[in-house]
Amino acid sequence: MRLVLIGPPGAGKGTQAAILSDCLDIPHISTGDLFRDHVTRRTPLGRDAQRYLDTGELVPDQVTGDMVRERLAQSDARGFLLDGFPRTVAQARGLSAMLDATGSALDAVLEFTAPEDVVVTRLLNRGRPDDTEDVIRHRLRVYRRQTAPLLAHYSGILLTVQAVGPVEVIAARAMACLLGAGRRAG
Ligand code: AMP
Repeated sequence: MRLVLIGPPGAGKGTQAAILSDCLDIPHISTGDLFRDHVTRRTPLGRDAQRYLDTGELVPDQVTGDMVRERLAQSDARGFLLDGFPRTVAQARGLSAMLDATGSALDAVLEFTAPEDVVVTRLLNRGRPDDTEDVIRHRLRVYRRQTAPLLAHYSGILLTVQAVGPVEVIAARAMACLLGAGRRAG
C-alpha cells in the first residue's frame, strides 16, 4: 500500500502515521523526521535545512524531493506511508514521476482535518523547538497557501478523516476509510 498523509500541523499526522504503519506493515516516512535527523547529525543538508525548520518555512522542493527519492529507493519502501510529503503541488508532481519510473502509483491520500484552535493547542502542548505560537501560526499559513491546493490535486484518491477525539478512535476511522476505499476499488 502506498499512502500519503496530509493535514495542517497539529492534526496528529505523526501519531496516526505511527499507528497505521504498524497496522499496515509499511514504513512510516516523515520528511520532518528526516530533516530533524540531518540537523541532529549536522550533515550539510541539515545545516541548510535548519533555518527553514526554525522559521516554519518549507525547505526548497529540490532538496526535499532528492531526500525523498533517496529514501524511497531503499529496499523496504515498496509500500510506504508518507507523512509531511508532498507539501506543494511541485513536490506532488515530483512524487508521481518517481512512482511512474517504477511502474507504481499512490493508492490513497488521507487528509486529517481539525479546527485551528484544536491544532494550535495540541502544538503548544507538544513543545518542539518550532512549536512557538508565532512559528505555529506561520506554519498554518504556509499549509493553507502551499499545501491545501494539494487536496484538489488529489481529489480522485482523497479520503478525509475528522481528526478530533481519542487517538484510537481517529486511527479506527482512518482504517475504516482505507478499507472502504479498497472495497470500492475492488
Ligand atoms: P513536520 O515535522 O512535518 O511538522 O515538519 C517540520 C518542518 O520540516 C517543516 O516546518 C518544514 O520546515 C520542514 N519540512 C517537512 N516536510 C517538508 C516538505 N515536504 N517540504 C518542505 N519542507 C518540509
